[in-house]
Amino acid sequence: MCSYWLESRDLSEERLKEQVDELFAKVDTKLLKIFTSGSFFDDNEVPGYLRRYIVEKALERGVEKIIVESRPEFVSEEKLKDFDGIELEVGIGLETVNDFVRENCINKGFTFSDFTSAVEKIKAFGFRVKCYLLLKPPFLSEREAILDVVNSAKKVSRLVDVISINLTNVQKATVVEKLWERNLYRPPWLWSAVEAIKRIESEAEIICDPVAGGRIRGPHNCGKCDREVASALRLFSLTQDKSVLELDCDCKAVWRKTLEIEDFSRVPLL
Ligand SMILES: [Zn+2]
Repeated sequence: MCSYWLESRDLSEERLKEQVDELFAKVDTKLLKIFTSGSFFDDNEVPGYLRRYIVEKALERGVEKIIVESRPEFVSEEKLKDFDGIELEVGIGLETVNDFVRENCINKGFTFSDFTSAVEKIKAFGFRVKCYLLLKPPFLSEREAILDVVNSAKKVSRLVDVISINLTNVQKATVVEKLWERNLYRPPWLWSAVEAIKRIESEAEIICDPVAGGRIRGPHNCGKCDREVASALRLFSLTQDKSVLELDCDCKAVWRKTLEIEDFSRVPLL
């Protein structure tokens, strides 16, 4: 479902360092989020000396917290030591606690225990962990997708600080796109995200930004209520107040029927 590989470019290390210098010349902030669309701790993506250079520059400029993302296998004590003196939050795309679903529906290539051992290392340094969960990978019905995300959140809520629920959207040149073109996949209903969040009892903060919400390739409802439901999800993310999710629309009945029938039909109803 991910088409980031289409955006990859081979950048020389010099060019990468120049980007960092350009960034620090422009930016004056306490909070720095470095979104590499990959793994910040992968030496092939960001060489070690450059990671240390970024921390050094950040400290110089008064940055208090850095947010990065990484696959779990690249997280090591040695690399975490480089962040001495600054707050760090590491986002990891676990997607689901279910190893079968992660391997067969998502093709992620690591296990839940790889994730927990990375989390342990990060927490041992007193740093924060954000866990990304994916709502509705291909091959799960709408109801199974909700159950999977609720169960996953329950299991990780004591391990991590933030749980970010990401709703699958249809990206270019992916298996999801091929399925979607043949009417074999529909992005999740926004009601499913609402339902999942209502059911999750979590010690961790829950956030959900429905990227491409209301669009045909993104998570959507009937078209009439999408904007309102997507805004409610964003408002919930800021406030953690579940009462903002008490919404209704005529299409809710269709969504409920979907939950019932897709388990058997295995293809989207509309
Ligand atoms: Zn609606």
